[in-house]
Amino acid sequence: MLEIKDLHVHYGNIEAVRGVSLDVEPGKVTLVLGANGAGKSSTLKAVAGLERPVQGSVHLNGDDITRLAPHKLVRRGVVLVPEGRRVFSPLTVAENLRLGGYTAPKEAYDETLARVYEMFPILADRGNGAAGLLSGGEQQMLAFGRALMSQPKVMLMDEPSMGLAPVVVDSILAKVRQMADSGIGILMVEQNADAGLDVADQVVAIARGEVVYSGVAGDARSHASVLRAFLGEA
Ligand code: ATP
Repeated sequence: MLEIKDLHVHYGNIEAVRGVSLDVEPGKVTLVLGANGAGKSSTLKAVAGLERPVQGSVHLNGDDITRLAPHKLVRRGVVLVPEGRRVFSPLTVAENLRLGGYTAPKEAYDETLARVYEMFPILADRGNGAAGLLSGGEQQMLAFGRALMSQPKVMLMDEPSMGLAPVVVDSILAKVRQMADSGIGILMVEQNADAGLDVADQVVAIARGEVVYSGVAGDARSHASVLRAFLGEA
């Protein structure tokens, strides 16, 4: 569904991404692993229209969507759940969700909101409360819910477990799995390799801007280079 081919992202002289290719399929989670500075976020940002790739292409169901602006990508069904959640703290939970749904067809709004509330009951409970008063895990759920309001085909997620307590990490990643199971294709950058592998279908490991491993998540744990580079030096 989403095909990333030979992507290159530069910041001046820094070649942050050097020829990354990967695919995201409907209903599947593709996990991107890599050390700090490997080029994971830059890859996501280039797909999401936040950085301009100097080379390479991104196709969605055969359509070239390379370098489209973020709002156009959202209309096409590609939405980013940013690192650090970035909920609008002074606004209520319901207002945050409404903002996520502004590009979606009006007829479907209520139905989509009902589905989001069904998947994240806490958001329904806290609908009139300020988003800034939610816990970290709840804010991550709001970031997911806000993205879901645009009725995405593909969700790009940058470190959804960052800064969350271990017990919360598992429930957040279980939600990622649930969203994929509803048919959405997910491209997820996650430092927490162990927890990420539990919910992923495919895994791509990036080092110094290049893909150094790509395979089925279930095989990744036993693959020596992945273990060495990304799960510690054990
Ligand atoms: P992290 O887990 O630390 O976020 P990452 O794998 O996501 O790492 P990127 O954030 O994509 O890595 O960074 C890749 C390289 O590009 C790094 O060397 C980083 O310093 C550099 N870089 C990232 N963003 C910028 C920027 N806006 N300007 C200049 N250099 C940048």
